Amino acid sequence: NRQFVIAELPKGKLGPEHFRMIESGVPSPSDGQVLVRVRYFALDAAMRAWMLGPTYRAALTAGQMMAGTALAEVVHSKAAGLVVGDLVFGETGWQEYSVLSAQQLTKLPQADPVTYLLNVYGTAGLTAYFGLLEVGKVENGDTVIVSAAAGAVGSIVGQIAKIKGCRVVGIAGGKAKCDMLTVDLGFDAAVDYKAGPLFPAVQAASNGGVDVYFDNVGGDFFEAVLFNMKQGGRLVACGAVSAYDTDPSKAPQAVRGVPAWFTARRLTLRGFIVSDFYAGGARERAIAELRGWVESGQLKVREDIVDGFENLPAALIGLLAGNNIGKRLVRAA
Ligand code: NDP
Repeated sequence: NRQFVIAELPKGKLGPEHFRMIESGVPSPSDGQVLVRVRYFALDAAMRAWMLGPTYRAALTAGQMMAGTALAEVVHSKAAGLVVGDLVFGETGWQEYSVLSAQQLTKLPQADPVTYLLNVYGTAGLTAYFGLLEVGKVENGDTVIVSAAAGAVGSIVGQIAKIKGCRVVGIAGGKAKCDMLTVDLGFDAAVDYKAGPLFPAVQAASNGGVDVYFDNVGGDFFEAVLFNMKQGGRLVACGAVSAYDTDPSKAPQAVRGVPAWFTARRLTLRGFIVSDFYAGGARERAIAELRGWVESGQLKVREDIVDGFENLPAALIGLLAGNNIGKRLVRAA
């Protein structure tokens, strides 16, 4: 059973030296538990933020196994309700096999392709869905801007906004990603943040201002869009990937100028964690609606699959560098 342990917490950019691969025996389940073998690991930008300190979960520390979620298959069951061959989602960490209790796992239906369970029918799709509809409260005719727009969450946000009748602008790094947004995914405009200053580019692309900003990046991006917001605009604080792969002691703290602008423009800023919206069957209803859009061809799904357990560190480092288009997964051998 191969595992990745955090050798040392990064003080700046994440590198391969921060992980160490170890090998141990395959564990056995006790009563109420199952042994699962991972098929696909989900790579999330936020995994780097877990190394900075406590967030919506406890901080990761040196010496522990790298945390993370995966799509796995039950290979030995001592738990009621789970049988060999069942597909499950859970926090396995970066290891090939793990023993978990039935309560720690979500049993999943089959999907075609099965990887969509970690993508549009998983955290990425649900984050886009609830963030845009429940937090951003988009309405027909709104101008919506999303950052990290060619990534897992962002690519789905923009397409749901189109389905809801919005004018949609994506911000992404590089011409290839921007072309993908406008040509393949139907965004109205795309801003390449690597091509020049962001504020004027957002101003030009938003065509009169922004009603909803779905912020995946934070920092300079937040400022550039904030000062382009329209009256009554809503800012959805989904994530701040620009602050993840950095030295936390150098994080900027200034918010000068921001409060008065919120007042003058009657803006709302709201953060959320996707699981806030799962209760009472809402998660299942959201997945059903996402499935309808995928099956009717209105919502296109982008996947970025890296092969091989041993490539987990490189895959996460590459995600933070923007090497992915859509949801990045690692297929276990
Ligand atoms: P993505 O698939 O979007 O990949 C991350 C992307 O971020 C990269 O492809 C890169 O694209 C962009 N990026 C990286 N560094 C920078 C930077 N310094 N400035 C601008 N862009 C950068 O990852 P996820 O879909 O996993 O995550 C997207 C966001 O959603 C994250 O902020 C994450 O924390 C958040 N999230 C929040 C959840 C919640 O419950 N609130 C749940 C899940 C995710 P490019 O080439 O364009 O730079």
